[in-house]
Amino acid sequence: FKINMSQLDLDEELGRGNYGTVKKVLHKPTNVAMAMKEIRLELDDSKLNAILMELDILHRAVAPEIVEFYGAFFIESCVYYCMEYMDAGSLDKLQGAGVPEDVLARIASRMVTGLKFLKDDLQIMHRDVKPTNVLVNKKGEVKLCDFGVSGQLEKSLAKTNIGCQSYMAPERIKGESQNNLGTYTVSSDVWSLGLSLIEMTMGKYPYPPETYQNVFAQLTAIVHGPPPELPEGYSEDAQDFVAQCLMKDPNARATYAELLEHPFLGADRGREVDMAGWVARALAHRQEKTNQT
Ligand code: ATP
Ligand code: MG
Repeated sequence: FKINMSQLDLDEELGRGNYGTVKKVLHKPTNVAMAMKEIRLELDDSKLNAILMELDILHRAVAPEIVEFYGAFFIESCVYYCMEYMDAGSLDKLQGAGVPEDVLARIASRMVTGLKFLKDDLQIMHRDVKPTNVLVNKKGEVKLCDFGVSGQLEKSLAKTNIGCQSYMAPERIKGESQNNLGTYTVSSDVWSLGLSLIEMTMGKYPYPPETYQNVFAQLTAIVHGPPPELPEGYSEDAQDFVAQCLMKDPNARATYAELLEHPFLGADRGREVDMAGWVARALAHRQEKTNQT
């Protein structure tokens, strides 16, 4: 069946990104809570239909590590995109209370498995791996969202300003600055994965804007400086895992198959991890912080 706006009751706003707003909604016919993302575009109807057709691939993106897609529709020049509601939000909101190694390994394992699924089964790369695009629920499940299925949609978005918080790999930043798209491959997502894991453990973006004079200096550090590392307290396996993701040379970076074979993820396999407990603690910590301000 097809979803449309008249079937939805709008609820609270879940967040805002560069291109639009995400709201919690109730789909009345099925009584399912969903997250609805509104993306504002400026283009003609023929393009809108091309986008809808491309988004249809999302119906095939069914895996435990991928946020479920329910459907998309247009009103005027906005795309509305309905997906599974994840009741603990994105990873960036859960990092304040600390991330034990077993939790980090479980998150990494879900992300690698999800990314490998997108590549092997749908022949797509994610293109936007970062903590806000990794969603979690109170059951402790970890799922990816906002991957680049629609080239048309990508082209219709207002051009992103790179910088501030760039999760782009060095080769992608270089390519972009030379206006030379297509210089990056699936291994660029591996860089973003490594950076996201480090952000989780540090509780902040690893190239904090306040330490650089300007965006140029920050991007220069990403392209030419040494890659960031995990803070102290994590095992050598964990350190090595992120180091394999953050090799400056894209050809030297680990593949998904190699990452799955890495001892850091090997240790995760079959290990009991109380993800739901961690999510509950992280949400409580966040609540405490918002109460204080
Ligand atoms: P960008 O615009 O660069 O992609 P972003 O990922 O933060 O940044 P959005 O994708 O618009 O922007 O999402 C805004 C926020 O809404 C996210 O940070 C996340 O916390 C929340 N969110 C998105 N999708 C869901 C969902 N399915 N369930 C619950 N919360 C969500
Ligand atoms: Mg997003």
